[in-house]
Amino acid sequence: MPASATPDGPVGAAPARHALVVEEGVSLRMLNTLGLPAQAAYLVRVDSEAAVRRVVDHPQWGMAPKMVLGGGSNLVFTRDPAALVIKVEVMGIRVVHEGPQEVIVEAGAGVGWHELVCWTLAHGLPGLENMALIPGTVGAAPVQNIGAYGVELKDRFHSLVAVDLVTGRTVELDARACVFGYRDSVFKQTGFGGLAGKSVITRVRLRLPRPWQPIVGYLDLQRRIEDSGITSPSPQQIFDWVCEIRRAKLPDPAVLGNAGSFFKNPVVSAEQCRDIIARDPGIVHYPLEDGSVKLAAGWLIDACGWKGRSVGRAGVYDKQALVLVNRGGATGAEVLTLARAIQTSVYERFGIRLEPEPIVI
Ligand SMILES: Cc1cc2nc3c(=O)[nH]c(=O)nc-3n(C[C@H](O)[C@H](O)[C@H](O)COP(=O)(O)OP(=O)(O)OC[C@H]3O[C@@H](n4cnc5c(N)ncnc54)[C@H](O)[C@@H]3O)c2cc1C
Repeated sequence: MPASATPDGPVGAAPARHALVVEEGVSLRMLNTLGLPAQAAYLVRVDSEAAVRRVVDHPQWGMAPKMVLGGGSNLVFTRDPAALVIKVEVMGIRVVHEGPQEVIVEAGAGVGWHELVCWTLAHGLPGLENMALIPGTVGAAPVQNIGAYGVELKDRFHSLVAVDLVTGRTVELDARACVFGYRDSVFKQTGFGGLAGKSVITRVRLRLPRPWQPIVGYLDLQRRIEDSGITSPSPQQIFDWVCEIRRAKLPDPAVLGNAGSFFKNPVVSAEQCRDIIARDPGIVHYPLEDGSVKLAAGWLIDACGWKGRSVGRAGVYDKQALVLVNRGGATGAEVLTLARAIQTSVYERFGIRLEPEPIVI
């Protein structure tokens, strides 16, 4: 049971209104979907921009290194974080603008992403249904520009509100400032101008275009259309299909610890792809608009014989080789050892370096 300490008052005393409540020795095992062991020496929960500012302005915690935590579904803990963990719990969903061509919905960063998708559908505001069931929080969605079944966050993004962890200033960023890429944004960049670890996203605004258009180009959704004979699916129908497909393909983290896709799909030149096809005609690939080709990382891993295999207590999911799982009691080091072995195999056979998708701590 973690102790609760308030640097603004004695342990056990009722915290003054707006005092900073910093919990000590918090286990993170239940706060990351891989279920990896790690402990936060100090953790603070923030439910507003003002709460983040209180951390930044605090004489002790303001200077401390900080790590932002959402739902822990895209993290690999290989050690205890050497930082004050900021758990983002800004809640609330509301419509901020309703016009003939778009509706803008704002959600607190601590709201569950899937909960937001359900809320919008229940309020007759479709547009997010292809991204149903992606675990994690709204605040983390822009960090890696989440995406699934033909839609990425950037396709529905309006702007976000964030608090700078050095100055405590609240800023508003539009899509351009977020520099979205494939599973990437300025919030993952550590170089000059990068914002990795430098700010807390507190609210995200999404633009839901009107009139609604179904996005069903993705192969799995096409198959559903063919099988069901429903040629004009409703938003709810697409939501239901996406949920069914995902439940069949991906392990539920509550049952089998995982972080979803462990590697990004590599992008290669058309020439490189032709070379690979000459050797492996079955390779799953998707031509991109700029002439490059995206390869299915799961296919590459499967071709190297990894599906269903384990290294220690970490393993490769038997239904989808792109997902690494915790078979029970695995450590982050075991997961990384497995990931590196897979990277080596894929490199030796295809000459392609797979890049992990989750953030390794
Ligand atoms: C079963 C499964 C399926 C998945 N499927 C998909 C999928 O289809 N598509 C997809 O894109 N992803 C998928 N993921 C990955 C994951 O769900 C997303 O990356 C998600 O957005 C992570 O949210 P989180 O709140 O858990 O973030 P965390 O794991 O807590 O954090 C991830 C990163 O974001 C940062 N961060 C978190 N919150 C904030 C904030 N408020 N402000 C600033 N930085 C923040 C953290 O510091 C960390 O660097 C899947 C994961 C699982 C387990």
